[in-house]
Amino acid sequence: MSRIVFVNGAFVPYEEASVPIMDRGFLFADGIYDVAAVIDGKLVDNEAHLARLVRCLRDIGIESPYTIEEWTRHEEELVTRNGLSEGLVYMQVTRGVFERDFAFPPESVKPTVVMFTQAKSIASSKLAKTGAGVITTPDLRWKRRDIKSIALLAQVLAKQEAVRAGVAEAWMVEEDGYVTEGASSTAFIITRDGRIVTRPLSNAILPGITRRAVMRLAEEQGLAVEERLFTVAEAQDAAEAFFTSASAFVMPAVTIDGKPVGDGKPGPLTKRLRALYLDMAAASNSGNMR
Ligand code: PMP
Repeated sequence: MSRIVFVNGAFVPYEEASVPIMDRGFLFADGIYDVAAVIDGKLVDNEAHLARLVRCLRDIGIESPYTIEEWTRHEEELVTRNGLSEGLVYMQVTRGVFERDFAFPPESVKPTVVMFTQAKSIASSKLAKTGAGVITTPDLRWKRRDIKSIALLAQVLAKQEAVRAGVAEAWMVEEDGYVTEGASSTAFIITRDGRIVTRPLSNAILPGITRRAVMRLAEEQGLAVEERLFTVAEAQDAAEAFFTSASAFVMPAVTIDGKPVGDGKPGPLTKRLRALYLDMAAASNSGNMR
């Protein structure tokens, strides 16, 4: 089956899809994106992803080109056309195509919308069984990290550092020594007395959709969830650590900068949270999660 992508309302073969070089996403990274998981052909927690997409658009002054219902329909059609069973739907909106100039183009310029799917093992991830290594690196990003900007150079460099170190993720660290989040995930630790800790929401981090679902699932189980800052040293000394994202769900972090967390294996509470999340994902029905 040939790969079909979505460009400005049309479903086209990948080989035929193109965006002009004057697209502001290409020139200025003037746009935002979101990514939702697909399990068994169904979108996971998609309403929350779309709500974040629309909020990010509003924050940068782009009117959403579609209603939530239209977005959902396009995503579902893309999943169907590509026969996607397990993987991701990527959605990107930029401020459109106009002669290069920093300020916004005239209102007549329409946003550019691109969507595509990627097959990926998420629920069936092998890495989740052994757990992932994590390195830490300075957080070099701008101050509006709550916006899911397509300007991802700092994360690209952080991720490449992780690859060079032979691990899966980089946790970014503020100048004050506190962990902000992963290059493409939310960072969590579990203290020795069983408290699940993650950084509170602010402009310093992206409000992770998986973060929110995992916190809710934990609370439903009567587990203690604490939103506060933590340092690299506290994370290394924690009982367990993990990170969350639409593309990894709940991923055990078993080493941090080469130091084992706990016994260096996925911890029991992390495994339980992953199982709870997988149950939720399996029960999901496009767009109407929780
Ligand atoms: N933080 C950052 C910087 C990310 O790129 C991601 C992945 N989109 C996340 C957190 C996790 O967000 P979500 O759970 O919505 O995928």
